Amino acid sequence: MEPPEQHQAEPGLDEQMDPKADIGEFSYRGTGRLVGRKALVTGGDSGIGAAVAVAFAREGADVAINFLEEETPDAENVARIITASGRKAVTLPGDLTEANVCRQVVAAAAEQLGGLDILVNNAGKQIAVPSLDELTDEQVETTFQTNILAMFRTSRAALAHLPAGATIVNTTSIEAYQPSPLLLDYASTKAAINNFTKGLATQLAETGVRVNAVAPGPIWTPLQPSDGQPKEKLPEFGKSTPLGRAGQPTELAPAYVFLASPESSYVVGATIHVDGGMPTP
Ligand code: NAD
Ligand code: MG
Repeated sequence: MEPPEQHQAEPGLDEQMDPKADIGEFSYRGTGRLVGRKALVTGGDSGIGAAVAVAFAREGADVAINFLEEETPDAENVARIITASGRKAVTLPGDLTEANVCRQVVAAAAEQLGGLDILVNNAGKQIAVPSLDELTDEQVETTFQTNILAMFRTSRAALAHLPAGATIVNTTSIEAYQPSPLLLDYASTKAAINNFTKGLATQLAETGVRVNAVAPGPIWTPLQPSDGQPKEKLPEFGKSTPLGRAGQPTELAPAYVFLASPESSYVVGATIHVDGGMPTP
């Protein structure tokens, strides 16, 4: 895949990508690994979150997705796939940079699903900026609000609902280990997510709630053509990985399914790297 140069306003729509991302609608087959589970996936309208939502539904879970209001077309498409897979879909628009929205989204998910077993903290903001000089405080603060502060808030709110055996899966990034000079704010939040994941995992271990993370490499999602990368770099996106290509969102889904399911019962505070072979510590 060599996508043409393209640009969308942030947060971008899967619907308008060229080519469209593969979220597994036509390929992911479940084997009943999450039957009867109830999951909330933030940023579940597109990209990695959408692929996770589709896979969870195919594995037998009911799924609530959170997204930004302007992403409603993508969210409706994912809800359609969940419903067509025979599971319940709940759509919860809301901006997670607002503390009360974090609480409301979790409460609404638990209420409409009739409980909560799985929280996937996946929403994220990435805007490339060439120099620290041009990186505004406003952007730094919104990136931290979206990527890490919201994670504290949704996780805290979810703990009121999560029973023993429940799981939290956080989306981190290769950027936590190999920070791009264009992504100072974003990469810092991803390093914070790694640390938060390990600390919370240790704190919650005795309660039976397991916390883990997935660290994607370069994945073809709406995040990238909506200022996540300079647009002239998009045709080469992912080519510097050992596999020589960007990943598709559906290639991430099995890692989330594993960490969300009882198959990973002895896996706590771990990170699964799905990054085309980029060396990580
Ligand atoms: P994406 O744009 O499809 O998903 C990100 C989602 O975050 C959006 O759909 C949006 O719903 C949500 N979001 C952003 N700001 C929000 C806010 N204020 N409130 C609520 N939701 C908000 O892109 P993606 O690449 O699938 O991103 C998913 C996760 O994967 C992010 O955490 C991202 O950092 C991470 N990630 C992506 C890549 C990649 O190459 N695409 C690599 C490593 C990590
Ligand atoms: Mg989206």
